[in-house]
This record gives sequence, structure tokens and C-alpha cells, in this order.
Amino acid sequence: LSRHKQQDDALRDMERMYGSIFENAIEGIYQSTADGRILRANPALARILGYGSASELMAAGVNLAERAYVHPEQRAELLRLLERDGYYADQEFQIFRRDGTTIWVSDNSRAARDADGKVQYYEGTLQDVTPRKQAEEALAQSEEKYRTLVDMSQDGVFLGEQGKIVYANRAFAAMLGYSPDEMSGFEFTELLVPEERDSAELFSEAHTPEAGHELHELHFRHRDGKARLTAAVTVARISYRGKPAVTGTVRDVTAQKQSEQDLLRSAYHDALTDLPNRAFFMEKLQQLLERTGHRSSDRFAVLFLDLDRFKLINDSLGHSFGDRVLVAIARRLRACLRPADLIARYGGDEFTILVENASALDDATAVADRVHEELARAITVDGHDVFTNASIGIVISAPHYKHPDEILRDADTAMYRAKAAGKAGYVVFDDAMHESAKANLKLETELRLALQRSEFRVFYQPVMEIGAGKLSGFEALVRWEHPAQGLIGPEHFLAVAEETGLIIPIGWWVLETACTQFASWKKRHKHIGDDVTMSVNIANRQFAHWVLPQRVARVLDITGLKPKHLCLEITETVFMDNPDLAVETIARLKSVGVSLQMDDFGTGYSSLSALRRFKIDTLKIDRSFITGIERTRADRAIVRTITVLAADLGMDVVAEGIENTRQVELLRALGCRKGQGFFFSKPMSTADADKYLAALAPPKS
Ligand code: C2E
Ligand code: MG
Ligand code: MG
Repeated sequence: LSRHKQQDDALRDMERMYGSIFENAIEGIYQSTADGRILRANPALARILGYGSASELMAAGVNLAERAYVHPEQRAELLRLLERDGYYADQEFQIFRRDGTTIWVSDNSRAARDADGKVQYYEGTLQDVTPRKQAEEALAQSEEKYRTLVDMSQDGVFLGEQGKIVYANRAFAAMLGYSPDEMSGFEFTELLVPEERDSAELFSEAHTPEAGHELHELHFRHRDGKARLTAAVTVARISYRGKPAVTGTVRDVTAQKQSEQDLLRSAYHDALTDLPNRAFFMEKLQQLLERTGHRSSDRFAVLFLDLDRFKLINDSLGHSFGDRVLVAIARRLRACLRPADLIARYGGDEFTILVENASALDDATAVADRVHEELARAITVDGHDVFTNASIGIVISAPHYKHPDEILRDADTAMYRAKAAGKAGYVVFDDAMHESAKANLKLETELRLALQRSEFRVFYQPVMEIGAGKLSGFEALVRWEHPAQGLIGPEHFLAVAEETGLIIPIGWWVLETACTQFASWKKRHKHIGDDVTMSVNIANRQFAHWVLPQRVARVLDITGLKPKHLCLEITETVFMDNPDLAVETIARLKSVGVSLQMDDFGTGYSSLSALRRFKIDTLKIDRSFITGIERTRADRAIVRTITVLAADLGMDVVAEGIENTRQVELLRALGCRKGQGFFFSKPMSTADADKYLAALAPPKS
């Protein structure tokens, strides 16, 4: 009995234990009919399905099969498993709760059969896995989002393993003319242009890029085999599915690169001659200076070429013809240089050549010789044979040059020396020139100070009617009363003043001073004839100044001087600089009413037709012809010709630099009626000129 009792006790213990598990389990435990009606349920199942207690659930007569929200395919699979194995495990599906909401459950189920194998009931456990499912779904969704982002990205994105593309997005594929699917399996080496095959190692998992060098510019080959794609590529090394892999982005920068290059090219390129331009030359020179800065052993030379008489070609044959001459010259220059020499069109008719590693001066002068030889041959453009050569200034590198501008400045100075010495020559910039350049710089500063301190003076030289010995006018001539050096003549400072533009303020001042002075003399010395004039020299830069006619009109207005009393002296060179502008300026000055005189006539270039075009009143024969008039037949002939020419064109003539009686007589005989020179009077200070005028007064009766 006691054994029975013991057995009973053990049995009861076990039942209690199972009962406790059944009651307290977290999983829902069920027993159901073959068609899903719940036979037994634990509290957990009631809770999972949204009921207060197991009895409530039972009372509701819930059918699990009806509540389950299973995809037909999954349902078929479950039945198949039960049929075959008698159970299934961890099947996940959704199930409707009491309130109609759904949750995700994981189900384990077993079919209990009778001896005939007929299903008596099902038993199993259900677990609420909704939180995990939601997390998974969120993850899937965000993955989906990223994937869409990557797929739709404008930039190419790739994933690679062992040198091969595993995945390429649409953008990357499209860049190369493929579909994304076609891209996978490609080796990076196959995608790159042949000459960049070696760069494929960038895509290797083992490659370790230098810090800060993760962005590469690579060139890919398009599917068509022709187009090259310039791409900015980033590569990063990652672990993908537990294996090392690479991923990165590809941006198509072909168009950008092209326009950068175009821009660079147009900024550094002369469109007419196809040569590099000034900016490029200066940049190169700058780099060279930086590179060779401290090593005086690496020498180089700069040649500055200015074509001789090119302006004449342009003016006489037209600008487009001139352009074609420039193109031909550029080609010829390029051809006669070594490939390593850099030639640029510096501007207008100026070219610059950089000769690197010029071991000695000889190298540079050899280049100059070659250029002269080449240009000595005629250039044929449109059937015209054109001859032009170049004046060349040469600078040899020296440690004191810090800036390209300094080199070009000196080369320019040397070029001007070459021009002055005669055409088709070269001059090497030397220490003496350096000294004079320095002196000019000093002079410039002093001239500015002189203007501020009012150190300029005007001297007046009488112009006479040769026959009558009567005063015809004055020429105003500038002087500089230097506080230390005394009176300085214009030959010592005008060149620098003209170069620096200081001639403009100086010139305005002379114009005002001379007009003011003459107006006051006319008031004080009533005997001054009404046809007596004041001549003022106008520099080319002043003449080219648009405001000149207005200025002149204003000065006349302020001083009360009549326009016919003022005469402006210009030289032939103003017509060479810009003939059209000259014609216009002369017309504007004429309408102000002043007269115009061509100074130093005979020394420059002027054609007879030009003289007719420019409405000049007086020709002033240059002193050099007057000096030779007694001894040289040719000079006499020139003076006679000018006099006759002037008479024919209705112009007056003035001879300058008359120093003796013989010259006066000859000039009278040649028909020249006016003159000025030391023979009559030297230029005088204001005070002296004032006395001179007083002395001219007729004796009071
Ligand atoms: P220019 O206009 O041909 O002036 C005549 C120059 O010849 C003056 O030199 C004058 O002193 C000089 N001269 C006059 N008669 C004789 C003579 O019998 N024998 C010799 N040997 N020389 C004589 P200056 O005053 O030294 O002026 C030189 C040049 O400077 C002028 O030549 C003119 O081109 C320029 N210049 C003078 N003043 C001014 C000015 O205010 N503005 C501008 N733009 N140029 C000026
Ligand atoms: Mg003059
Ligand atoms: Mg003169």
C-alpha cells in the first residue's frame, strides 16, 4: 500500500510540476483539434492572444487555424512538414489577437496520432516574437533605404572583392555604358584605360593608401572603347560578410576637367599665334626663379623681341594682314628654336623667349642670331613679300632677380637700346644699364617731389620774322630748378617723365603757366602785336589724352587768352602712334581755335599724303638741317623742299636752331620767313623775357 502511496505521491509531484510549468510558462502552450479549435490552453497563451485568462480563452472557442494569418505557401509548407515529420519548429507567422490587432508568433507544433496514424490532436507552443520582428523589419527597411540611396545616387558606388566588382550601382554602370548587372564580375584592370592598369592596385584589399591620398583621379574606359572617362575615385577598405572588401565612389569629372583645361588653356594661350601667352611665360619664369633661386649655376636667359616697323605693316596693309604676318612669324620663330626653349607672344608685336640652362651668354646670343637670320628672309602672306626683323633685348639670369617683372623690365630696356642702335640688332642688359635704370628710378622719385615743390620753371625763346627782325612769338620751354644742381634742361628729365607719365602733370602746368604769363604780358606790354603767339610743346602722351582739347579751352578761358594766340607743338610721331585718333584730336583742337605746329619736322616718318590729312598750320624744320645748311647741299635742298611743300599746302615754316648770320641769309634766300635760335636769343627766364619785351617798346614820343 505504502508502495502505491509512494508511487501515487511521486505521480502527484510530477503532475504538480507539469501543472506549474503549464501554468507559469512564458510560452503559450496549447492542445488543439486537427482543424485548430483549442482544447487546452495555458494562461500565457491567453495573454498572448489578448484574453484575461485561459478559461476566458476557452469560453471564446478560439480556433488557432482561423486566427493565424499565414501565407498560403507557408501554410502548405507547414502541412507538408507535419505530414512528413509529424512536427514543425520555429515557424513564424502573424496571428490575430482578440482586439483584431496582429502580432508575430513563433510556433512549434506536433501532431498526436492514434494507433491507426490518424491525427487525434495537435499540441505545441507559441511565442510572441513581435519586438524582434519589428526590429528586423526596421533594419530591412533602412537597408532598403540605403540600397535605394546607393542605387539612385548620382555618384557611382561600387563594392569589390579580390580585384573584381561585386556590385556597381546604376550611375557607375551608366558612366561606362553598362547595366548594373553587367558590371559585376568585371576586373578593375579591365575597366581602367590600358596605361593606368597599374592603378588597379588601389582597389586591392591589401593596399594601404598614404594618409590624405584616398581621392584618386583615374581614367576609365567606356564600353564603346573610345571614350575616356576622367573620374574622381575614393576607395575605402571594409569588412563585408566577414571578408575584407573594398567599397568606394566614382564621380565623373570629365566635363569639369575639360572645361578646367580649356580655361587654363585660354588663360595661358594666345589664340592668334597658338603660342603660350604672357601670363604663361611669366608663370614659367616665376617657377624657374623659385627653382633656381639660390643656385647661380642654373642659368637661364630671357630674350625680348620687338618687331621692327611692324606698325608700318599694320597701318599700310591692314590689321588682318598684320595678324597673318604675326602668325607666320610665330611659326617661323617656333621652328628655329630648340624644343626646350619656351617662346611666348608677350603682346602686340612682342615675343619673349626663355632659354633654360643657358650655360653662357653665347647660348643666348646664338638664339638671337638664329632669330635674326630666320627673320631676314621675306615672309610671304597673300602673295606679298614682307620684310620685318626684330630688335632683341637679352637678360641673363642673376641672383639679384627675385621677380619675373624685374627680368622683363630689364629685357625691355635692353630691347629699346637695340632699337635705338639700329634695327635687327640685339643688346645684352649689363651693369651699366642696370645703373642707369637705377638712376632713372631715382630721377622719377625726384621728379614727383619737384612737382610737389614747384621746382619747374618755364623759359621763353623768341621766334622771329627773319626778314623784318620782328617778334613773331615765343616758345615755352620747361626747366627744372634743382635745389642742389641748379637749372636742369629738359634733355635730362623728359625721357623719364614721358616713360612714367609724369609728363602729363608737368605738361599741364607748362601750358597753364605759359598762357597765364602771355596773357599778363599782353596786358602789360601793349605794343605786343596781335599776331604774336605763344608756342607750347605737347608730348605724345598728352596729345593722346582725351581731355586735351577741353583742357586747352579751359586754360584759355581762365587766362582770357584768345585761341589764336596759342600754338601747340606736336611731333610727327603722334601720327605714327594712332593716326585716326590724331586726326580726330586735331579737329577738336581746331574747333577750339588754336593753331598747330609740327615740331622737329624732317626727322620722323611722315608721308606727304599724311600731311594733307592732318590740318597742321606750321612746319618747324628741325635744327639738324639748319646746322648743316651752310656746308651741305643736301640740307639746303631739304630746307627748300620743305618750304615749297609747305607753301603749296598753305602752311607756314619756322626754322629752329639758327645760330649765325649766314644761316639767316640762306634761309631768307630759300624762302623761309620765320626762325628761332641763339642768334636771336636764347630761351629766357620770365624776368629776362619781361625785360626783353619792355626793350621792344617803341620809344615814347
Ligand atoms: P624743341 O621743342 O625742338 O625746342 C627747341 C630746343 O632747341 C630747345 O631746347 C632750345 O633751347 C634749343 N635751341 C633753340 N635754339 C637753339 C640754337 O640756336 N642752338 C641750339 N643748339 N639749340 C637751340 P630745350 O629747351 O633744351 O628743349 C629740348 C626739347 O625738350 C624741346 O625741343 C622739346 O621737344 C622738349 N621740351 C621742352 N619743353 C617742353 C615742354 O614743356 N613740354 C614738352 N612736352 N616738351 C618740352
Ligand atoms: Mg618745340
Ligand atoms: Mg624742335
